[in-house]
Amino acid sequence: MGKVAIQIFFSIAFFLLLVSRIRPATSQEVEDEEEFNYDPNGENGPANWGRIHPEWGACSNGSMQSPIDLLNERVEVVSHLGRLNRSYKPANATLRNRGHDMMLKWEGDAGSIDINGTEYLLKQSHWHSPSEHSINGKRLALEVHMVHESVDGRFAVVGIMYMIGRPDSFLSSLTQKLQSVAGSSERDTVAGVVDPRSIKIGSRKYYRYIGSLTIPPCTENTTWTIVRKVRTATREQVRLLRVAVHDVSSHPDLEYFPYIK
Ligand SMILES: [Zn+2]
Repeated sequence: MGKVAIQIFFSIAFFLLLVSRIRPATSQEVEDEEEFNYDPNGENGPANWGRIHPEWGACSNGSMQSPIDLLNERVEVVSHLGRLNRSYKPANATLRNRGHDMMLKWEGDAGSIDINGTEYLLKQSHWHSPSEHSINGKRLALEVHMVHESVDGRFAVVGIMYMIGRPDSFLSSLTQKLQSVAGSSERDTVAGVVDPRSIKIGSRKYYRYIGSLTIPPCTENTTWTIVRKVRTATREQVRLLRVAVHDVSSHPDLEYFPYIK
């Protein structure tokens, strides 16, 4: 290869490298399972999320990061339901295996919640097992996050925590779909029309605090509302959510490790 050809080759290689580094993080939670994981000692584990992309800096440097313990002084208990006005409606949804978790993504208009006068549209729900938030240092079996976004790009997440017990009716309605996801390597599975009103809350008391998204880009100024009443799901329902993900850190037989960003 001539000198000029070599120069051109390296210029192109450098350009491609640059382009691959500056790909912007989306405003939604990032969906590429390769880019980060929950390996506590890994290069792309929680402790290093903030260094993977400049846009993810808040994961390391943020001052209002989630998850936290719900007895933290940042958290207040809110008892007037008036501040959580849900106006959800049924819409078509897709189950997406994001590699690190299972997400139910509404394709159409699934309605919204109104928090202190701001309307947040419901975008998706996903599950964490064990729970991300803790109560007095203890994690529970499962936590669902219902992620909402306002037209100006602010997030509001409603969280519901579960311990092992009686079946959860919403998860029961998804059993077949989750089983087909578990047995498939496809990323997306059609879930049909899903009514978000069937995700049971059953409490008028909430924990409320201002935190962040719990996965990159860890966006701050996220309004958290966590239902105070702990609900139940069966061991099998929790197991199915974990198995469907095919992620080693979600493996049902592995002990959970402390999740520290
Ligand atoms: Zn989450």
